[in-house]
Amino acid sequence: MNHIAEIISVGTELLLGNTTNTDARDISIMLSELGINVYYHTVVGDNPARLKAAVEIAKSRADIIITTGGLGPTCDDLTKQTLAEAFGVKLIFSEEEAEIIRSYFKNRLHYDTMPENNLQQAYLPENCTVFHNDWGTAPGCAFEAGCVTVMMLPGPPRECISMFKKCAVPYLRAMSDYVIRSHNIHIFGMGESAVEDKLRPMMLAMENPTLAPYAKNGEVMLRVTAKTKSDEEADKLMEPAIEQVKSILGDKIYGIDTESLEKTVLDLLIEKDMTIAIAESCTGGMLSKRLTDISGASNAFLGGGVTYSNHAKFELAGVDPEFLAENGPYNEETAKMMAEGIKKRLDADFGIGITGLAGPDPDENGLEPGTVFVAMAAPNGTYCRKLHLGQGRERIRVLASNHALDMVRRYLTGLKI
Ligand code: ATP
Ligand code: MG
Repeated sequence: MNHIAEIISVGTELLLGNTTNTDARDISIMLSELGINVYYHTVVGDNPARLKAAVEIAKSRADIIITTGGLGPTCDDLTKQTLAEAFGVKLIFSEEEAEIIRSYFKNRLHYDTMPENNLQQAYLPENCTVFHNDWGTAPGCAFEAGCVTVMMLPGPPRECISMFKKCAVPYLRAMSDYVIRSHNIHIFGMGESAVEDKLRPMMLAMENPTLAPYAKNGEVMLRVTAKTKSDEEADKLMEPAIEQVKSILGDKIYGIDTESLEKTVLDLLIEKDMTIAIAESCTGGMLSKRLTDISGASNAFLGGGVTYSNHAKFELAGVDPEFLAENGPYNEETAKMMAEGIKKRLDADFGIGITGLAGPDPDENGLEPGTVFVAMAAPNGTYCRKLHLGQGRERIRVLASNHALDMVRRYLTGLKI
């Protein structure tokens, strides 16, 4: 049976725009991984009448209703009271939950006395499955009401998402007699439409598994998804599809189920016991940041600098000041000198130099904004890409750092750069 879920997010702060509804987004992603359709997200303020009306509507069009927020002691158990009424279930005081809440205050928050209103959180729908809150005080729960499954989760994202993963996912899995399993194929160097173009006949012919492209941060991800009785069966079904995608897209694929392009590159560097140093101008340190976001980066990333001014390009990366004075910083030679300079200065195996015009205005010589030079000084020579990355300073930074990573990846895997 195909389930339809509706997420009702409770919180006036969500309506006012003070808080982004990340809970609904993150739950939706996980529901889709479980093969559960989500047709509506509803956001309602901390108001019982409007919440009740939203629940009545949800009941008519979904068989799984998931609420987030409004479980705290401060808003009089708005969500639990209202849903209990809407589904005609009683709220019962759970001494076990009360004890957990008391001990949370004592041992985790080190309170001598607990404000009494916190015990309101220990009232739960009769015969519900309790979702213990290991990350805060308000327990969540799930209960069955006729043909509807109701789940209530706390609002704070850390509590909500952790509880969803730990408690709601197994609950929902048990409701279904099949599994949904996915593999993600990561692609760089081709746009989403080009990928779709190449794969369209294949995608159209597929039913199970399915293939769907997603574009994000200058990369494309293809998700292969199979719905079967077991994980093994799903993998077996997906294997030929993945092989077919590999044969069509070839070395544009940088990984399957990998975390990110930077992680792929870092892993390759560590595996080969090689190091990298980076001199960045228009990327403002983004490439270094992306690498250092990964734990273990110090095994390969030595450091470098944001060499934004001509003076910094000279001082830190040894770029010839006379050349800069004569030609300016937006050219292949500067990028190469930055890459070679920082490589030498830090005695690294690879040096990266990134320089370009982030825009939005052209420079005094009419150079188009988004023109970026990415150079890689590798053990066997220096390479450079001249890129036209269009508008948007953030986008330019992301794409330029992607290109630098792509060059290192291609070098390390013996591909043409
Ligand atoms: P709880 O059920 O745990 O008591 P609550 O809704 O009663 O949650 P609030 O004080 O309203 O508690 O919210 C706690 C924090 O969680 C706030 O910072 C709020 O902005 C955030 N939050 C609530 N709902 C969401 C949501 N859907 N997405 C992201 N953040 C949320
Ligand atoms: Mg709230």
